[in-house]
Amino acid sequence: DNPIQRKPDWIRVKAPVSQEYNQTRTMMRDLKLNTVCEEAACPNIGECWAKKHATVMILGNVCTRACAFCNVATGRPDKLDPHEPEHVAEAVSRMGLSHVVITSVDRDDLDDGGADHFARVIRAVRLGSPTTTIEVLTPDFMRKDGAIETVVEARPDVFNHNLETVPRLYPSIRPGARYFHSLRLLSEVKRLDPSIFTKSGIMVGLGESREEILQVMDDLRAAEVDFLTIGQYLQPTPKHAAVDRFVTPDEFASYKTLAYGKGFLMVASSPLTRSSYHAGEDFEQMRAA
Ligand code: SF4
Ligand code: SF4
Repeated sequence: DNPIQRKPDWIRVKAPVSQEYNQTRTMMRDLKLNTVCEEAACPNIGECWAKKHATVMILGNVCTRACAFCNVATGRPDKLDPHEPEHVAEAVSRMGLSHVVITSVDRDDLDDGGADHFARVIRAVRLGSPTTTIEVLTPDFMRKDGAIETVVEARPDVFNHNLETVPRLYPSIRPGARYFHSLRLLSEVKRLDPSIFTKSGIMVGLGESREEILQVMDDLRAAEVDFLTIGQYLQPTPKHAAVDRFVTPDEFASYKTLAYGKGFLMVASSPLTRSSYHAGEDFEQMRAA
């Protein structure tokens, strides 16, 4: 038992036991959909699924990258499921979601990185649930010319792409990705369609300093990113990167205040914040404000 890895009191999660949890699970199985909630072993699954909030993971459940923090399987991905767009649309309409987050594995093996499939999913959801707001959480589309344009043209309401960590930790935590490439992706989305909200997030507790986090905030604001999420990194299995430390709730609160001061329109910063945690509620509140 490693004392560093022992979770503090503020990382408490509810067991996934509700009837709604089981219904969400069954529906996803029936429609052959993957969720990042399950594949990433998200600690919030009990709470989110009880409220029928789930984040669909498209383009398969095998990723071509192997990030040190991520529980998703790495390897040779399967062929794309051509029925996935209609299945996602059906899930969104059956769950009656007012906001949906759609993410994916990274598909470096596909010519367009899966951008066209993303666009098809967005259009299918729009058709089936015209009032639902759509948030995509995309891969970095590195060396996939035209991919960002393809997704932007399908007009998601929120375009989310996570920086995940500070640039110094990229080689160990996010090998295969480039910090400035991800930043450029976010500023490019804004340039192509300023009406789309842009969003990004980082995990803390991986060994970054406070100054480095503040620098990431400044970089994101320079890229005109609107929303920011900050959450505690948790080690999914002993094979993944170790937790350096547990950031206290007070520190999360202070990051939130600082981020609002830097001009973000919406900031979620707490130990259990994830990119998609309360995404719908926060988005609706921000629009109502
Ligand atoms: Fe799923 Fe996101 Fe909720 Fe985690 S926070 S269970 S990934 S919707
Ligand atoms: Fe996980 Fe995304 Fe990294 Fe793939 S690219 S290993 S899904 S974080």
